Amino acid sequence: MEPRVPPSGSEQPGHCCPSFAQAETLLQHLGEEDHPMGALVPPLFQSAIYTYKDLDRFEAANEAPYLDDPVYSPWGNPTVRLVERKMAALDGTEDAKLTGDGMAAIGTALLASLERGSHVVTIDSTYSTTLRLLRETLERYGVRFTCVDGRETETILDAVTPDTSVIYLESPSSLLFRLQDIRAVTSYAKQRGITTMIDNTYSTPLLQRPAELGVDVVLQSTSKYLGGHSDLNGGAICTTRERIARMAHGEVKLFGTIMAPFVAWLLLRGLRTLPLRLRHVEASANQVASWLEQRPEAEVVHHVGLRSFPQRKLFLAQMRGSTGLFSFVPKNQDRGWIKAFLEALRIFRIGVSWGGPFSLAMPAVDPTSPKDSPVHLIRIYCGLEHPEDLISDLDQALAVANRNHP
Ligand SMILES: *Cc1c(COP(=O)(O)O)cnc(C)c1O
Repeated sequence: MEPRVPPSGSEQPGHCCPSFAQAETLLQHLGEEDHPMGALVPPLFQSAIYTYKDLDRFEAANEAPYLDDPVYSPWGNPTVRLVERKMAALDGTEDAKLTGDGMAAIGTALLASLERGSHVVTIDSTYSTTLRLLRETLERYGVRFTCVDGRETETILDAVTPDTSVIYLESPSSLLFRLQDIRAVTSYAKQRGITTMIDNTYSTPLLQRPAELGVDVVLQSTSKYLGGHSDLNGGAICTTRERIARMAHGEVKLFGTIMAPFVAWLLLRGLRTLPLRLRHVEASANQVASWLEQRPEAEVVHHVGLRSFPQRKLFLAQMRGSTGLFSFVPKNQDRGWIKAFLEALRIFRIGVSWGGPFSLAMPAVDPTSPKDSPVHLIRIYCGLEHPEDLISDLDQALAVANRNHP
């Protein structure tokens, strides 16, 4: 089928041509109809400055530098803009802004929605660096926050005060894989004029589209699945055109949080294969996690893709699938066992982050466990290797750990 090409210019990216209803097509074709010289792959606009012959157009572009007329790369760049349009279309939002990393997206969006005296409700298993931003930085500027469990919606609603201006979700969270009922939270928040945000890094817009569930601001680290090759760091804010315009003129410009053009170019290359990669890691991690769940060494496996996942009904209601990331609580909580297991792995490497071709494992502490008797976890990321090789690797590493630390 011949893909129909959307008109270029300033149409709203999220409301793209209906022939791009499927992500596989959209990722290859949206905004790519006429690259210079007939280039099939878009050129990288590595120019910091964009000049004008017409003073009126120059001044108009300068007034609204987030639009498609570039002026200066830190405010907006054609390569970055192309990928922003794709991200907005994927997420089903009016517009998007790409940032230097995931934390830049989270920090930019929070700063843009808070003021002195504001209160934030968030989840106790939220990404630890986001919690540090709230605790160590935003609190110094007079922002208060409350952490709740979040699996029961009441815990979130009960924490709301008259000063609450943001409810910040992370569903699933990335160590304990806990879900929040997104629709229930957003319908409550809308009645009270509270802004809802979500860190959607685990799911990507292919497996969960929070804007459709009523979330105002969708945040992602593109360092994970979206980039997909463990060779870039980036972030994305997907929301209304009005919010993006305000942030682009405000926090993005004032703090310099925009993504670099070459990073956007790499991100676009990674995005093209996102649906293929996600299908592989979903099937692989489901196979590996099901195997691990049967092993006596695993006290519990936290994986949204398992049939035994405690919030299975909510998972089926708001997500379209699971991904390559999960964690397990080893029965043997001894540091010696954990160290022996991780160091014995041959295919999995010990490392942070996830979302690329390589499988990774790392130790972590359940952030909701008591400080004086912490529960140790091992987080597993299944990459693009063959699942049977991953299972053999875990199997031999468990044997080594059991032998050395019975
Ligand atoms: C990695 C990650 C972030 C931060 O993204 P960076 O690109 O590393 O800054 C935020 N939230 C979640 C859930 C993440 O996994």
